Amino acid sequence: MLKSRASVVSLDQRNATRLRVLEQIRSKGSVSRIDIASALETSPATITSATADLISAGLIKEIEGEAQSKSGKRGRPRVLLQLDGQSFLVAGLKVARQMISVILVDFEGNEVTSHKAQLEDARMSPANLISTIRLALEDTCQQVGLSIEHLAGISIGLAGQIDAARNFVHWSSSVTERNIDFNPLIAKELPCPAFVENDANLVAKAEQLFGLGKGLKNFLVVTIEHGVGLGIVLDGRLYRGKRGCGAEFGHTKVQLDGALCQCGQRGCLEAYVGDYALIREMTVTGHADDMQTVSDIHTRANSGDDRATSVLARAGQMFGLGVSNLINLFDPQCIIVSGAQMSFEHLCSAEVMTRIQNGVVNVDAPLPEIKVHHWGDLMWAKGAAAYGIEQVSIQKVKELAANAS
Ligand SMILES: [Zn+2]
Repeated sequence: MLKSRASVVSLDQRNATRLRVLEQIRSKGSVSRIDIASALETSPATITSATADLISAGLIKEIEGEAQSKSGKRGRPRVLLQLDGQSFLVAGLKVARQMISVILVDFEGNEVTSHKAQLEDARMSPANLISTIRLALEDTCQQVGLSIEHLAGISIGLAGQIDAARNFVHWSSSVTERNIDFNPLIAKELPCPAFVENDANLVAKAEQLFGLGKGLKNFLVVTIEHGVGLGIVLDGRLYRGKRGCGAEFGHTKVQLDGALCQCGQRGCLEAYVGDYALIREMTVTGHADDMQTVSDIHTRANSGDDRATSVLARAGQMFGLGVSNLINLFDPQCIIVSGAQMSFEHLCSAEVMTRIQNGVVNVDAPLPEIKVHHWGDLMWAKGAAAYGIEQVSIQKVKELAANAS
């Protein structure tokens, strides 16, 4: 009966069901077939078929749960389903200006090990970038006695405009050339599928799977680092735009013919808020002899330096203006401001909140909540790993369908 039912269902539908089942198991930790069927409003027979496929692919496993009995007596133990954490190893990787950070996670998202490597050049040719990535991956795997052949997937986070669906980089501040299809280089240099994605989208994915966006349908993630990024989650899905390069919040204009941005245009938000913009502002006024990071500017401001205080305050006002524009456009459930470091308190001050409030169209309802999330150094790599797990899941489910057809 199962078989005849399955035969009238298309492969795409079966794959979609398998992925929804997998998502359900990931979000619940461990769950019975009958509970999955009721959560997904699908027949138990369909769930039985999908879970059998996922077990045979090694993605999930059965465990014995607590016995449940209405009479209070001991009943038969329930069979629950859980991800098989040991089944696949995924690498998440972020290429920043001066450093590559890598995290290895199992299929449940548990950290296996992590590694950081200094970069000699902030911008590299595509070939150089991929071989640098390979080296960093080899060093990371070696730390736990593995080789990169053990990896099931590699997710690479870059700043810039990236069409993730085809690993195509329109532009990135880490790459010397524009319009690069990374697929041939990946196939040549890396031992398993690799997925290139905009770094802010990766953080949005991590917030959705493990962070402050868990359970939310519509939210925005603003990332603060060298530049300013945005991840848009609408109806539970990342929104990337037609060419894969929407959500360029950092390059929305806040000043006509304003400060020069690293993208080559003028007046971008990032040219007032990004790390490099603040350090540049201190430099042109001769205040930056010992200044490397935004934390240095904070230290200077805290010790009473007026110039440092006004540079940070101006960045905060520009940021508030940008965030109020986001609220006017999206009216999200919440906005999560995510950063790796503790150096963006100037963007979350009471003055910035007032600026946001003043810029949002007046309605008789409270503003969306603005949450601040300090992730620590591995924020970006963890985001990449979350995306990697999702992509490996899709890949394995597709292979399952191909083998069965
Ligand atoms: Zn720009």
